[in-house]
Amino acid sequence: MCNFMGRIAVLADDVISQIAAGEVVERPASVAKELIENALDAGAKNIHIEAVNGGQKTLRISDDGSGILTDEVPLAVTRHATSKLRSADDLQTIHTLGFRGEALSSIAAVSQFSLETRHRDEEIGMQIRIDGGKIVANKPIGAPAGTVISVNNLFYNVPARLKFLKSENTEKRQITNIVQNYAMAYPSVRFVLSQDGREQFRSPGSGQLGDVVVKVLGLDYFKEMLEVGSNDPIRGVGGEVSVEGFVSQPSLHRKDRTRITLFVNGRAVQDSGLTYAVTQAYHTLIEKGRNPYAVLMITVPPDFVDVNVHPTKAEVRFQDTSAVFSAVQRAVRQGVLGYKQASRHDYGQFRQDDKGWSLPYDRQRQMDMELPLNDSDALPRVNSYGTNDPTAIPDGLGRPEKPRTLPLLRVVGQVGASYIVAEGPAGMYLIDQNAAHTRVVYQELKDLYHQQDELPHHQLDSQTIDLSVHDSQILEKHLEILETVGFNLEPFGSNTYLIRSVPTSLVSGDANTHLWQILERLAEKPKDILETLLICIAERSAIKSGQILNTDDMRSLIQKLERCPDPHNSPTGQSTFIHMSAQELEREFTRSNR
Ligand code: ADP
Ligand code: MG
Repeated sequence: MCNFMGRIAVLADDVISQIAAGEVVERPASVAKELIENALDAGAKNIHIEAVNGGQKTLRISDDGSGILTDEVPLAVTRHATSKLRSADDLQTIHTLGFRGEALSSIAAVSQFSLETRHRDEEIGMQIRIDGGKIVANKPIGAPAGTVISVNNLFYNVPARLKFLKSENTEKRQITNIVQNYAMAYPSVRFVLSQDGREQFRSPGSGQLGDVVVKVLGLDYFKEMLEVGSNDPIRGVGGEVSVEGFVSQPSLHRKDRTRITLFVNGRAVQDSGLTYAVTQAYHTLIEKGRNPYAVLMITVPPDFVDVNVHPTKAEVRFQDTSAVFSAVQRAVRQGVLGYKQASRHDYGQFRQDDKGWSLPYDRQRQMDMELPLNDSDALPRVNSYGTNDPTAIPDGLGRPEKPRTLPLLRVVGQVGASYIVAEGPAGMYLIDQNAAHTRVVYQELKDLYHQQDELPHHQLDSQTIDLSVHDSQILEKHLEILETVGFNLEPFGSNTYLIRSVPTSLVSGDANTHLWQILERLAEKPKDILETLLICIAERSAIKSGQILNTDDMRSLIQKLERCPDPHNSPTGQSTFIHMSAQELEREFTRSNR
């Protein structure tokens, strides 16, 4: 990040008048965006984002950047005060993400705001609290170098704004999007996002775009991505345009364009022209009305692009739009036709086990370790990723540790090819392999669905299915939602359908049988159709009773079960395990020996 970190000063009127004006605080997600940009501008290497209730109740951004000098803190929250811009000429060559000096003052005016900071060259830090624009506290504090900004009860004093806020879920998703976009734009910065106390996303900060994209898309999708890199930049009028990143193979596509993410000089942009350039590159390669996945970093000379169009800065204006358009289209087309697969690279934290389920490397490493008995302090912590990571951000910035929901277990063996016998600190556990695996798969599918709004699918070579009139009516009614979970079906004569794809987790079985079973379930008119579908898919792909498992399989299953939020029951309410404490065992023996 190129810093323009001089002293903070109020901009001169003539500069203010040249900056595109407008409201930067529209919603919680826009607050998150401004604060993340400030942290990046301050050269942070670690940025933690914590949101509660979609950011409306609390939004806290902690960074380990430069911090703010004690005597400049009041200025930082003053309107049009910035350290990043001095004269109107500077507007031409902006290297920082912010420059308007508006964000902090605007946010503090409509929230209960607190800023804690210590400049890395100073011994003592400073805390300032502002309620609805009024400074209510201001005092020196001891703090690590960096800045923590907490925005509480956003819009509490602007009821009209509160009323127009989108739903909590929409805000949550928007915050996730924003964090993931910045994580992709700044792969060398480690981002950690938690919402409502639960960690949702973490980028490794390795400096490799692919390492972040794999975390954003998940391994199943990432494997379908191709690397794009115009190594020889394309010459446009007035400069070179380079395009790098990842795009999907023609076999992976979705109904909307929400997974086409574009960056221009490190800023995420929403530009329908550029998005169109990407889809155009797939012309004739994917069906009409379907859209690819893409993450592209487009680099143009700074004076080639005007970022000053809109205060939220999602739009850009190019000096020569068509040069950029054709550069993007050409780079993507070359990438797609060249079929250079992203998974060729060793994106080290992931590997796949034989069931096709993927696990972060850390988890896998834990699984490969022999688990010590009884000494629970020595056990690896299972419910938080990356706590073994030596470069992890120190506690205090991190989220609180959640209690484990299931103790760590040591596999003893399998009984009747259906139950796993395991030992834990509190006695013996008998685990129903089918119920447990159904819970695990269900949770994985649900997480995946919430990330992507659809499940990965596997294309079939035109298989047909004949249905009863009744079944085909049910099918017709649910075509759309079936497609989001991976069943792409096309009418093919009366009551006959072409099965174009099935959910990836159901590839191994017979597609027709899967569908019949699912239609049967849908015929019962379930209340929550999506949930029913996810449960059905989970049940059908789970390990069955009667299947012999080796120790690794069993260990892996138990580890995944431990990670589920509700490990005690299958999604249909069956118990996943029976627990007997050592005392209970002893009692049983005493009784039978009497
Ligand atoms: P802008 O980013 O446009 O300059 P802001 O209102 O967002 O305006 O911030 C005002 C000033 O406060 C910035 O110019 C910067 O000097 C300082 N500042 C804000 N956030 C941080 C941070 N996280 N770390 C260090 N300095 C910050
Ligand atoms: Mg700013």
